[in-house]
Amino acid sequence: MELMEETRLQLSPSSATSFKSCPQMFKFRQIDCLPEPVSRPQARGSLVHAVLERLMGEAPASRTPQQAYSLLDALWAECGEDPEWRPEDLDAHNEQEWLQESRRLLANYFKLEDPGTLDVARLEWWVEYELADVHLRGVIDRVEERSDGSWVLTDYKTGRVPLESRELAASFGLRFYALMCWRSFGVIPEELRLVYLTDPAILTWRPTERTLIAFERQMQALARAVRRAADSDDWRARPSPLCMSCPFQGQCPAWTEAEAEA
Ligand code: SF4
Repeated sequence: MELMEETRLQLSPSSATSFKSCPQMFKFRQIDCLPEPVSRPQARGSLVHAVLERLMGEAPASRTPQQAYSLLDALWAECGEDPEWRPEDLDAHNEQEWLQESRRLLANYFKLEDPGTLDVARLEWWVEYELADVHLRGVIDRVEERSDGSWVLTDYKTGRVPLESRELAASFGLRFYALMCWRSFGVIPEELRLVYLTDPAILTWRPTERTLIAFERQMQALARAVRRAADSDDWRARPSPLCMSCPFQGQCPAWTEAEAEA
């Protein structure tokens, strides 16, 4: 695949997850760059993330629920008509209900932690690292630095808490970031936290050098698999329940060929 030969292979947590779930979906998204409609859950996730980023940028005493709701209203007034923010199927009829659900997620956030007590060091922090022939990159929602110098990485999630059997998979993005923190800055974060706003709940992990070395090997193997797929232009479609929410179903050979045969 020329594109992959001319440019460095880049992986973020979401693109790596995309390849692991379905190489064909990865190709549609990362190689062909097909447009994707903004879904309501995606748009809600972006909006709530942006509100929490702005809230953490305020002085600790101002990080209140009322301030969060005001920021939500202000942000939606600013971006609500932008097609990159607004779900395609949102109309005047269901908009308030959809916004109310975003307010509920923010209310849940305050049940989990008091943001006025947090020592926030970085927000939406862009990190990257060259690993063998793959460039790892991503954006960490929040980094706190404790008085002993240790780092805590936090990622907000607007989906549901995963089943116990899926918890390790859910921590993939944070382990990815922890590896970059270690390799780029020499710091193994003390704690990785997934803050689930729907349920609400917090899942935590404590990475170690041993687990990060194992994860690094996993990333190297994944990079080799992506490179092989690119070199042979062989992007296997991997049908699964994920297909039901895949925006590329209409272009996917696994579905279009099955329909043609029917
Ligand atoms: S429809 Fe299913 S098989 Fe096809 S690209 Fe999407 S996830 Fe993969």
